[in-house]
Amino acid sequence: MPHRTELYQDVPSTCWPIVYSPDYNITFMGLEKLHPFDAGKWGKVIDFLKEEKLVVDDLIVQAREATEDDLLVVHTRRYLNKLKWSFVVATITEIPPVLFLPNFLVQRKVLKPLRTQTGGTIMAGKLAVDRGWAINVGGGFHHCSSDKGGGFCAYADITLAIKFLFERVQGVSKATIIDLDAHQGNGHERDFMDDSRVYIMDAYNRYIYPGDGFAKRAIKRKVELEWGTEDTEYLQKVQTHVEGALNELKPDIIVYNAGTDILDGDPLGGLAISPQGIVKRDEVVFKAARSRRIPILMVTSGGYQKRTARIIADSILNLHNLGLIDKELATSGVENPKVEQMLRNSVADLSKLSLQ
Ligand SMILES: [Zn+2]
Repeated sequence: MPHRTELYQDVPSTCWPIVYSPDYNITFMGLEKLHPFDAGKWGKVIDFLKEEKLVVDDLIVQAREATEDDLLVVHTRRYLNKLKWSFVVATITEIPPVLFLPNFLVQRKVLKPLRTQTGGTIMAGKLAVDRGWAINVGGGFHHCSSDKGGGFCAYADITLAIKFLFERVQGVSKATIIDLDAHQGNGHERDFMDDSRVYIMDAYNRYIYPGDGFAKRAIKRKVELEWGTEDTEYLQKVQTHVEGALNELKPDIIVYNAGTDILDGDPLGGLAISPQGIVKRDEVVFKAARSRRIPILMVTSGGYQKRTARIIADSILNLHNLGLIDKELATSGVENPKVEQMLRNSVADLSKLSLQ
């Protein structure tokens, strides 16, 4: 019997399947400035979407914090207990000063935001199945597995979202993870190593963290990129392999890890994709999913430059302008003539893209 959870409550159909909470953002007396990350990017994405009049506060889904029982669906108690040590959290989040904080502050200021983002991913999983698509404005902690954190990732939100769906939602028994963050997603790869229900496609810079050779064995489609890979080559590879992955196996849910650290100038990613390239990439993935009528859950994952939030917002606006995401479309399902038209357009568009 699955445990009782608050994360699968019904959401009013008037809401966008966009999940967020102000609690996502990490702020602590300037401590966050010691990190190379823009630890407030999630709030800025929502601010841009509000400025552009796409969303208002009442019509986005408020993320709830994942409880210990929720986390235990994937995590070991041993691992959760280790997070009660500030030095462990300092190592995982790569924020060294966290080492000097009493753990109650670490829990409140660092781990609670990450647990709320994790709850958001789990909630967005169900929403995606109900509505055809969903976006968690945070999450995408793809270096964390059931028993080990790392690379800023303290909770395995992708694994959790998929396991919740498998356990609680009828008709969901196959998942495909499309991981396009600049880093290899070794967390979900370790978690689903011997699980034939999960198909993993991963495209990443082959020379950077984590270089997890063992985890690579779980990848069904591995796209290893060179330093400084640019838009044309990147988008061609993404399209070929996303299409290939979905043609090989039609899943009941796609989890799209849409890291933006592929952006040119990212201090960690080492790739050279333009802002327009990122917007196009998300478009390619959504078209592939929507044209096949496979529910898609997007999480934002890595990428913390100052201009990152604007690019994520622009991408969501682009998806909306193209009719790939829509509130109306979401609530009225695939019977909607508007959807049928959108799907026809995207198939026509896809053939154009491959000629570029
Ligand atoms: Zn990354």
